[in-house]
Amino acid sequence: MEENLEELERHKNELYRRLGEWGDFRRGTISVNYRKCGKAYCACAQAGHPGHGPQYLWNATIKGESRARNLRLGAELEKVGREVENYRRLIQWWDQWIEVNEKICQNRPVNRIEDEELEELKKKIKAEVWQEAQQEIGRLIARLLEAGHKRGGVDLEASESTIRASMHELGGRLLEGVLNGDKGDYRGSRIECGQGHQAEFVGYRNKRLQTVLAKIELKRAYYHCAVCRAGVIPKDVQLDVAGTCFSQPEADDGPGRRQGSLR
Ligand SMILES: [Zn+2]
Ligand SMILES: [Zn+2]
Repeated sequence: MEENLEELERHKNELYRRLGEWGDFRRGTISVNYRKCGKAYCACAQAGHPGHGPQYLWNATIKGESRARNLRLGAELEKVGREVENYRRLIQWWDQWIEVNEKICQNRPVNRIEDEELEELKKKIKAEVWQEAQQEIGRLIARLLEAGHKRGGVDLEASESTIRASMHELGGRLLEGVLNGDKGDYRGSRIECGQGHQAEFVGYRNKRLQTVLAKIELKRAYYHCAVCRAGVIPKDVQLDVAGTCFSQPEADDGPGRRQGSLR
């Protein structure tokens, strides 16, 4: 059985979609009856005669009041039969609907990011960036010293720009870690598209983004509105990077131009 929230919400969506597939429905059941008319001279009065029929009867108890209707064999019986069957399916659907919703309640965390989660996230990003930083600084020192060794002295200007580029790259990793800490800004299985419709969650789409520091990869939850036939990406809106691969208008001095030795 599905366990995680995403799958449960997918299931909920699937159920929601199915609700629209059925036609008309009504409560009640259909029974077949044979009746004795009570007239002494009628054939039905004889022993072993089943009675007049078959007669099809729809009946239901609605708000404590019982209702019944005779159905003509053929089209009418078939129609009401379908309607009653649809109602039976609706009840099954309803049970599943409640079940999946309750499971979602069970799986949904109390807060979006609880303190504990935040602490964990801090540790995770720190560990990732720290490891990269150590490696990068090791490589950087080696490169600066080797270059200096070859030319008989460290070149100030070249060293400055090498260090700056390297720090930009490192900053990019840090920024990436922090920006992706929201797990793509997933906001549930459906969200407002902005035009008054519901957009459905499709999956995660990554985006390469040129920032002042370096190129980074953004993880984003992607929703699609069937009415607008357009994608909705809350994270792009939140970061104000919709429709661009730059975090700012193209900068004058070409940020993060260096081909980093990172990644
Ligand atoms: Zn009779
Ligand atoms: Zn829309």
